[in-house]
Amino acid sequence: MSIAYAVAKSVIGYYIKRMQNAQPKYGLDRGKVDLRGKRFGRLFVKTYVKGGLWHCVCDCGGEATVLTRNLNNGNTRSCGCLQKSITAKMRTTHGMSNSTEYHIWRTMKARCSQPTDCNYPNYGGRGIKVCEQWQNSFEAFLADMGRRPAGLTLDRIDVNGDYEPGNCRWATTAEQNTNRRNNHKIEFGGRTLTVTQWARELGVKPGLIANRLRAGWSVHRALSQPRGGSRHD
Ligand SMILES: [Zn+2]
Repeated sequence: MSIAYAVAKSVIGYYIKRMQNAQPKYGLDRGKVDLRGKRFGRLFVKTYVKGGLWHCVCDCGGEATVLTRNLNNGNTRSCGCLQKSITAKMRTTHGMSNSTEYHIWRTMKARCSQPTDCNYPNYGGRGIKVCEQWQNSFEAFLADMGRRPAGLTLDRIDVNGDYEPGNCRWATTAEQNTNRRNNHKIEFGGRTLTVTQWARELGVKPGLIANRLRAGWSVHRALSQPRGGSRHD
């Protein structure tokens, strides 16, 4: 009785085990290591498909069909959700998404590349661009410019130049206004040139003329008095 029971138990056990391992459609390839029930990262292997492919379910609820070697060597550890979350994390690793610099970077890009931006006509519309490394990376912009000193704004030294490392600085509003004034057109002696063009023509720095105008000098005096002449006034 007990022997018959033991035999029956082992026979039934054998068939139960066979059924549990049975594949509905395809058998395991000969010599293939059975990965069913094994876990690889977020993936849990359910069934063998064919051609070295395993059907897996992911912790996120997704599914994936993965090659044996990609499971074994760790190349594939999720349905794709892992990479997505890593990418999302990398995007915010600078941890400065709420910072002033990040806001400045976003608005700089918008006015140069989005025709719908209200400032676009004065920037992108005039051919002002953001250099490629800044366009693609907030980190690159931050590395080149550094944190913004309190009260200063992003300024282009040559207002007709692009947003790029050599042409940008954090500047006070006064410095920005001087800079803009350098591009203001001034009529003198029947000719109309920008401050920068006058300075080039007269062989002085644009800042000299700009400073004189800011100090209230007349255009005539600002453009005609020799450099250093102000000492005698
Ligand atoms: Zn997933």
